[in-house]
Amino acid sequence: MSNPCQSCGACCVSFRVDFHPAELAGGAFAWGAGVPGEMALPVTLGIVRMAGTDASPRRCIALAGEVGREVACTIYDERPSPCREFDTSHEACARARQRCGLPLL
Ligand code: SF4
Ligand code: SF4
Repeated sequence: MSNPCQSCGACCVSFRVDFHPAELAGGAFAWGAGVPGEMALPVTLGIVRMAGTDASPRRCIALAGEVGREVACTIYDERPSPCREFDTSHEACARARQRCGLPLL
């Protein structure tokens, strides 16, 4: 069965994605190569935010494709911890899908 997230992407256009700067490329808590610095914006000394996730319209800079059809995270192996912790079992998944006019899973 295919992963429903690959034809969704609603969460990547619905929520702010904040994380610790140590998850940026070269940081002590980076996953893989870490989140490319140019894809994140500083919020406070201890918080950075995926660019686009606080914009209007909201859309993470790392998201490729068309929401609700076919999408991909272009930094999947390096994506920050909030994205690693979010999946279809998260209560906000349904909210994001509903917001984008997608049926509940
Ligand atoms: S909103 Fe849910 S189904 Fe859609 S990409 Fe995010 S976790 Fe996957
Ligand atoms: S980093 Fe990837 S998984 Fe996380 S919000 Fe952006 S596109 Fe979605």
